[in-house]
Amino acid sequence: MSRIAILLNDRCHPKECQWECAEYCPVNRMGQACIVEGPTGKPIISETLCIGCGICIHKCPFDAIKILNTPEADESEIVHRYGYNGFRLYRLPAPPSQGITGLLGPNGTGKSTALRILAGVEIPNLGDYTKRPEWEAVVEHYRGTTLHAHFQKIARGELRTAVKPQYVDRIAEEPTTAEAYVAAGGGEAAPALESVGLSARAERPLSELSGGELQLAAIARTLATEADLYLFDEPSGYLDIVHRLQIARTLRRLGERKSVLVIEHDLALLDYLADQAHLLYGESSAFGVITRAMPMRTAINTYLQGYLREENVRFRTDPIRFVAHPPKPTTRLDAIVSFPALEKEFPKFHLSVGAGSLARGETVGIVGPNATGKTTFVRMLAGVEPPSRGVPPAAVTISYKPQYLRATHRASLRERMGALAADPTFDGALFERDLVPGLHLDEVLDVALPDLSGGELQRAAVALALARPAQLYLLDEPSAYLDADERMSMARLIRRQVERQAMSALVVDHDVYFLDIACDALMVFSSQDAGAAGLGEGPFPMREGMNRLLRNIDITFRRDAETLRPRINQEGSALDREQRSAGEYYYEPLS
Ligand code: SF4
Ligand code: SF4
Repeated sequence: MSRIAILLNDRCHPKECQWECAEYCPVNRMGQACIVEGPTGKPIISETLCIGCGICIHKCPFDAIKILNTPEADESEIVHRYGYNGFRLYRLPAPPSQGITGLLGPNGTGKSTALRILAGVEIPNLGDYTKRPEWEAVVEHYRGTTLHAHFQKIARGELRTAVKPQYVDRIAEEPTTAEAYVAAGGGEAAPALESVGLSARAERPLSELSGGELQLAAIARTLATEADLYLFDEPSGYLDIVHRLQIARTLRRLGERKSVLVIEHDLALLDYLADQAHLLYGESSAFGVITRAMPMRTAINTYLQGYLREENVRFRTDPIRFVAHPPKPTTRLDAIVSFPALEKEFPKFHLSVGAGSLARGETVGIVGPNATGKTTFVRMLAGVEPPSRGVPPAAVTISYKPQYLRATHRASLRERMGALAADPTFDGALFERDLVPGLHLDEVLDVALPDLSGGELQRAAVALALARPAQLYLLDEPSAYLDADERMSMARLIRRQVERQAMSALVVDHDVYFLDIACDALMVFSSQDAGAAGLGEGPFPMREGMNRLLRNIDITFRRDAETLRPRINQEGSALDREQRSAGEYYYEPLS
């Protein structure tokens, strides 16, 4: 067992505290130098002298210290370490020469670092952060392993890699068109744009593209590049379920002749897409351990189970469970919210949504392709977008979490909570008691909101929305930027809160596992008149809603025998044909 001490540099503000960490450390008090000031003016914590009492963790006013025991990892397996008290990554994946390998694990455990190392963008220091790392040393270190040839090629400048970056919003700042951006990768733009369905937007400036279109442009550029190894960091971000499947099929074709490594949090998609996967476990911002590769089904089942038998490591206390049958259809006699038929007219798009109602304690998912009006419908109910026809229910109290989040004030979540204490429409007790721990926000309470990561900001926004007592919660894409674990706990928490408070929620999302866990019913949006119109229908019971959605997008799901999780069927397989003819696209047939 080894003890590691992590200082979260961005949270440590030595000029704004009393150095409580060093002041209260019992080893320091006994005259030894366990926590001392380092050359940067911030503390250095000795992992040799530390006795693991945890006092500094609690005394630091900015939650800047983590002290952890890592019984699972061996120091000789460190691949990269960011400083003495910095994050460390243990082991690397070794992608084969063909096929698709997935990387699955929590945010902050080193997936992107592993990707950068394999792409040759970052030289791993093998744990010695005091020297400038060299590729020659890396090649020598991996001699006799499957990664030796890979690093040898990088060192000789012979490995061609193509990387799809994680944050596609950033490419919107480039002053160029989608076509020129894709061509700048060195490949042919037209066929790549065609393969992702973006040809019609080829001449548009990047700044005019939506998040989903930027994602498609980034994927097209990567596909157009001639490379030996293709690396895709979260290719499903901003994409609707139709585009996710389309991209999965394109990547599968690429994997038939090339080596592809994919980081992905949509478990149904990763399961369909990849041949094998490495899991990551560890502690966010502190350390990450990469497991050996497992066949895809084993990898996801192990992940859901939360226990690695081979390494005897439990990385989650409870398994994530699914049920094979839909929840009982809710009776709408006890409706808490009813809305009339609503329409919205735009210059080139017409949306119409039928009248509907939500029962007490019911969470309704809103599903369907992008550009069918889901967000517009939610915005009409929230009072942000005036309808062209129909009047949203005025007497209903609403709490709304929009799709795109931006933190403008430099306040922390704790300060925000303090400012809302006197607000009668904010339940501070619920926020502190249930939402902060339920969404794992304890650690970021004192971080300024603009400094939060995308996933942390998303969890904070959902917590703030759920803390406002309302008859209807409107949550637009609450799973965006979350890792798979965070998605499952968010889905369970939304459902539980809505049931407990006997209120209702409408949730727009594209992740099938998230919807499966969170929802009691579905509203289904579809495209009409070749994209010139959108139609919203429902709510329908889960079985009918899933059948309508999946019939529209032409896929069927089966259940995994061990975990009962939904798995996408191969097109044309015996099960796929059988389910289509029975009209059961998602759940087991009624007996
Ligand atoms: S770790 Fe915390 S207590 Fe120690 S110097 Fe940094 S901010 Fe201050
Ligand atoms: S956990 Fe270690 S560094 Fe922190 S106060 Fe205790 S002995 Fe000191």
